[in-house]
Amino acid sequence: MINQEYFSARYIVEDYKTVHENSVLIVNGNYIEGIVPIETISKDSKNINDLGDVIISPGFTNAHSHVALNSVKGLGYGSASALYDVMWGIEPALENDLVYKLSLLGMMDAISSGTTSINDHYFFADSVAKACETIGIRGFIGHTIMTEYGPWTGNEQINQAKSFNSNWKNSKTVHPIVAPHETSTVSPKILKELSNYALENNLLTHIHLAQTQKEMEYIKSNFKTSPIKHAYNLGILNEKVIAAHCNVIEDGDLELLAESKAFPVFCPTTHGIAGKPMNTNFLSELSVDWGIGTDCSGGNDDYDMLEEMRTALVLNNSVAKKNFIKPKEVFRKASEENIKRISGGVFSGKLSKNQKADFITVLINTPRMLPLHDVVNNIVMCASSKEINDVYIDGKCVLKNSEFQQIDEQAVLEDGMNALNKIFVKTGFDKKISEGDFL
Ligand SMILES: [Zn+2]
Repeated sequence: MINQEYFSARYIVEDYKTVHENSVLIVNGNYIEGIVPIETISKDSKNINDLGDVIISPGFTNAHSHVALNSVKGLGYGSASALYDVMWGIEPALENDLVYKLSLLGMMDAISSGTTSINDHYFFADSVAKACETIGIRGFIGHTIMTEYGPWTGNEQINQAKSFNSNWKNSKTVHPIVAPHETSTVSPKILKELSNYALENNLLTHIHLAQTQKEMEYIKSNFKTSPIKHAYNLGILNEKVIAAHCNVIEDGDLELLAESKAFPVFCPTTHGIAGKPMNTNFLSELSVDWGIGTDCSGGNDDYDMLEEMRTALVLNNSVAKKNFIKPKEVFRKASEENIKRISGGVFSGKLSKNQKADFITVLINTPRMLPLHDVVNNIVMCASSKEINDVYIDGKCVLKNSEFQQIDEQAVLEDGMNALNKIFVKTGFDKKISEGDFL
């Protein structure tokens, strides 16, 4: 067929347990057609794209990110609260154009480390979605809704979120999601309304749940229970809910979470730094297939899923008694389970027939990758963003030989830094930094 393109490489990872050698990945437009032995393809075919001595692998999905919130790198480690003082401190100065420029910066970081899809939760979602289209990343995008406290609250935000969802519902690479912020920043009435709205419109919900001690104290003093029990009692947890964090808990919380079938997302670096990792071992005991995300700067200063996979494995196993996990298991979570859950089962994350052509190539002949005895184990335990050579999303080449194909990298970096300076001057953060407020 005319649109078919053949990608050859030394190895092709179809999924976490299937690796092909001497084979070709067939892509037809935006979709994967299959993987076949190289000898079945005519050597004269003009459509062979030899990607060289690399591994073709499924791309990774970041199950919880805020790509535009990369502006506060390095500032979340002092006495100021990363969320309440640092992030909320700069967010009132956001504007559409600034969020667009900062999103591109975060997306560059994500793509460079092999991420082909993000599940992103932020204000000005329309600008995040536009940035997805500009750079070429697949985005499961939600417009953050808060009814109290945060930098952007009120009905206006709910209306914006709803129009965002209807404006982008037919996009091929932007998939709208309903995004209430958290249990202490959204009233019970609105949490319930948004849950019904999501189910009626066949949309998933992405929420922060049980993420800080402050949230726990607020819910305790107002509702006499924990955030997870509060959400459970409101009836807003179900299998179409992506619940980031779930790490500030009390007895009985994780059992209810498991019963609800919501998808808890472990953010290993953020949780490890805060000293409160999600109890992945207990969740595994409860047969909950938890996901992995990076969160954002303030708690984790990059969007590198390779790093998060390794950190997830280390943190889980450092306290494990029996639920030790292996590299292939975190690879499966990052490449398959994450996207399966955030797409509501539409995507499998495997390089198999009728799946979207979202894949990456990983260099083999580097000091980090050699010797290569086990392809998937080495991707997880050895590869860094330096080894990520090409990224294809929806059949389109987004990164080729580590160079961005849809954007001018230098211009995006400059625009991003100018946007950041504008925000920092407006909020006084430039002065605060020079006066040592974040030490
Ligand atoms: Zn978050």
